[in-house]
Amino acid sequence: MIGTSNPKAQYSAHREEILAAITNVLESGRYILGDQVRQFEGAFAAYCGAAEAVGVASGTDALVLALKALALKPGDEVITVSHTAVATAAAIELAGGIPVFVDIDPVFFTLDPARLDAALTKKTRAIVPVHLYGQPADMVAIMDFASRNDLRVIEDCAQATGAALGGRKLGTWGDAGCFSFYPTKNLGALGDGGMVVTRDRALAERVTRLREYGWDEKRNSRYSGQSSRLDEIQAAILNVKLAYLDDDNAHRRRIAEIYHRLLAGGRIGLPRERADARHVYHLYVATCEKRAELIAFLKDRGIELGIHYPVPVHRQAAYAAYHSSDCLPYTDAAAAKIISLPIYPELSDADVAIVAEAIRSWEKTS
Ligand SMILES: *Cc1c(COP(=O)(O)O)cnc(C)c1O
Repeated sequence: MIGTSNPKAQYSAHREEILAAITNVLESGRYILGDQVRQFEGAFAAYCGAAEAVGVASGTDALVLALKALALKPGDEVITVSHTAVATAAAIELAGGIPVFVDIDPVFFTLDPARLDAALTKKTRAIVPVHLYGQPADMVAIMDFASRNDLRVIEDCAQATGAALGGRKLGTWGDAGCFSFYPTKNLGALGDGGMVVTRDRALAERVTRLREYGWDEKRNSRYSGQSSRLDEIQAAILNVKLAYLDDDNAHRRRIAEIYHRLLAGGRIGLPRERADARHVYHLYVATCEKRAELIAFLKDRGIELGIHYPVPVHRQAAYAAYHSSDCLPYTDAAAAKIISLPIYPELSDADVAIVAEAIRSWEKTS
């Protein structure tokens, strides 16, 4: 069976180093917020080209804490997309904001900056663009709109670790960048983890306090915070794996190139890269009008395809009340036809060719 992702393959590829790093933490006696976390925060900030990085318990929490650091007031609105992992909208709500969904552009499937103006109200405080699938959102236009309207920008980089636009890493365009280290992400832990990067010292300090009960140096809670810490074992594993991230992303890009070469001119639509972008292909998302047929055909041949995501957030019960469901046409259209092909750094060229070959034979069937 060829799956869409394979986090165990990555553990196996670096098994000795990972086991040694874990043992080192176990022997150290320090299991939460210690040297490994500090080292990883420094290394990750340097990798992104950010001044500050604060490790937290998950990608969702990274978004929640970065948004909480903006001190949203009740009723404040945060503009984002509905075509995303539900975590993006959940985080806005958990931070006390009201998610306002705008449509995506039909080519890159990221937030369409042309829709921002119509979504702007007196209550709008921030924008959360999502670099979905590893593709950079149109940050030039989004930052321009934000600065003209005095809005903060928190980037959802959960699927885009290592991606860049115009040579500048994602996460450093807005006021803060939020990353997830969920095992299947481009930089994956072997459990949960997340990170907030920023150039803003005050914002970093606020996130640092918020991740541990809002404590100041004297352990008095200055803000109402929460418990959202990165643990030493995950940080030690991430310290090992960060060294391989660029190679892993290069491998993902290579697989994307092979798919492009073998599938061009066929019946499925292939993803395109924004000009000046370094897309890191967390997912390789094509489009297919007869998706169910293709999924079944490939499943019979031992190949698993994914759908990210089948139901837009504004159509999910928990978030439906935030939006009338009939005005995000490109979001709905995307959800109906997107299809994720297998892609992960350890996937062999031979397996990529098998997947492409199977899709080619399906194209000939009907
Ligand atoms: C994975 C993901 C998140 C949430 O990260 P977790 O670590 O799972 O909490 C947020 N946004 C997007 C786009 C994601 O893909």
